[in-house]
Amino acid sequence: MRTFVGAMFIALCAAGCTGPPAPPAHARVVVIGFDGMDPTLTERWMDDGSLPHFAALRENGHYQHLATTNPPQSPVAWATFATGANPGAHGIFDFLRRDPSDYAPDFSIAQTQPPAHVLHLFGWQLPLSGGATTTRRDGTPFWTTAERHGDHATVLRVPVTYPPDDITRMLSGMGVPDLLGTQGTYTIYATRPIAGAENGGRVELVEIGDEGIINTQFTGPDHPLKTQATPMTVPLTLRGDGDGATLTLDGHSLRLTVGQWSPWIHVRFRYAGFAAVAGTVRAYLLENFPRPLLYISPINIDPTDPVAAITAPPSYAADLAKTIGDFHTLGMPEETWALNQGHMSEQGWLDMVKTTLAEGEAMLRDALGKHDSRLVMEVFVQTDRVSHMFWRGIDPEHPLYPKTSELARGAIPWIYREADRVLGDVQAQLAPDDRLIVLSDHGFASFRRAVNLNRWLAEQGYLTFKPGADGSAPLFAHVDWLHSRAYALGLNGIFINLKGREAQGIVDARDAPALKKEVTDRLRGLRDVESRAIDDVFDAATLYTGPHSGDSPDLVVGYAPGYRASWQTTLGGAPKTLIDDNLQPWSGDHCIDPAAVPGVLFTSFAPDEPIGSIADLAPLILRLLGDDKKLTP
Ligand SMILES: [Zn+2]
Repeated sequence: MRTFVGAMFIALCAAGCTGPPAPPAHARVVVIGFDGMDPTLTERWMDDGSLPHFAALRENGHYQHLATTNPPQSPVAWATFATGANPGAHGIFDFLRRDPSDYAPDFSIAQTQPPAHVLHLFGWQLPLSGGATTTRRDGTPFWTTAERHGDHATVLRVPVTYPPDDITRMLSGMGVPDLLGTQGTYTIYATRPIAGAENGGRVELVEIGDEGIINTQFTGPDHPLKTQATPMTVPLTLRGDGDGATLTLDGHSLRLTVGQWSPWIHVRFRYAGFAAVAGTVRAYLLENFPRPLLYISPINIDPTDPVAAITAPPSYAADLAKTIGDFHTLGMPEETWALNQGHMSEQGWLDMVKTTLAEGEAMLRDALGKHDSRLVMEVFVQTDRVSHMFWRGIDPEHPLYPKTSELARGAIPWIYREADRVLGDVQAQLAPDDRLIVLSDHGFASFRRAVNLNRWLAEQGYLTFKPGADGSAPLFAHVDWLHSRAYALGLNGIFINLKGREAQGIVDARDAPALKKEVTDRLRGLRDVESRAIDDVFDAATLYTGPHSGDSPDLVVGYAPGYRASWQTTLGGAPKTLIDDNLQPWSGDHCIDPAAVPGVLFTSFAPDEPIGSIADLAPLILRLLGDDKKLTP
């Protein structure tokens, strides 16, 4: 069918045809994203009958691979999707960026405002001691263009949409912080030291008191009115109770059983009389008394009393909570890091994914049922998150595969079937004239071996460590910058230590092109034991154009499938070995050579122009809405 539609399309356009007319004005354009949905898996499971709704859409509409961005990272790709622009124009190049004044890695999706104890942001008080976050995405998303031309748009949980754009209805996605101002900090209460504590959430060591009760505090954001950082707390007690435990948090008591998520608990961190910062958490009892292990989720911004604007209009968050109940507001609520650190069970983690998926479905159903937006869009990230954490269950060559549980082996097939079910439910809510687009931002590959790119740069003489230091410390703590010409940071980037740009830069601008070429020539085709670890290395000067291209890494590394930058590389560390087995549950990835991880595109209609890449979706959607004709050049 794909070939047929493609051939038909070429025939149509060769005849000078511009394709089918835009749908009638009452028809809607509905766009569903499944983050990280991979064409190889999708085709395998369409062909064996596991994904009947996708297979039917391929048969009756249009299906193709969708080229992603370089690098193929979700924030980069969704920002390109939204704006139709390349990263040089929208300014998002990687999950992480670096501050050239001190080489410190920073979250690239949002930027921290200068620290302020109360930040006034769009009329809201955001009391976060570390400052508040705003988007770094530049450019105009197509939903904003649509609204400017009189169409109403509802956009739900698209990555890199925080703070929300001023449209008819938006719920921000990836980028919304928790109440601590982080991208998700969980808390573990333990009565004995636990592994991974130094590299996970907050681990609170507590004692069981005389009555068999743990009596402690749960720590929230800093007091907004105090000049010295003073965390606000609410009381927390945990009492063993037969086969479960009773948790009392900020006055709310509820019973927990091992392996069951609690309902949402509303906590209010009070200050200055009646004023309070409102948050919501869920609890999960990992192990019971006599050695309890209690997990508390990151403190979500309470949708019923949001301390910062996470929706447009601001009242939409509370309205939605009234309709569908409390929901996760954190931008990345699927706690991959807790599972990776062994601080959450596989079953508990998958149960949480079921919850976020159900929330996403409920809000989409509500949005489609309102019939007040011509453009309705939502991104479901669960396909991506489950693929990251459970690729070890479907790749016999992954070092962890022999140890994976039945649950782990079934997780990715399960989330794809769930995506298919969601698709079927959406289709059932559409009218015949409505146009449906389903896409992913990139595909997926195994992450079997981790490349310590800063070690390679050191071995090649580009990165130098201080005398006696081995380079393993993160944040470039061991680096002798005055003798270093290049460094790796983020998931795909290499930066030249450029004079006049980096704080201690030593490479003259006129020498940079030759240095980039030399690094590229040596790195391209880097061999591991039996295979190639790096497919290609790209010069950013050839990839990006636009006002932000100066912020990009100088080289973008296209790892071969099976490989990725090590976590230490992303944060500026250089472990002693060059390439290591990846022995963590985070076992699938896509931050590699973009040619190896295209996404998928399904449409319920034949597109009027060839769709080359994810950058072509914004113009396509505006054409469907008829808004492209109103665009001023
Ligand atoms: Zn991902």
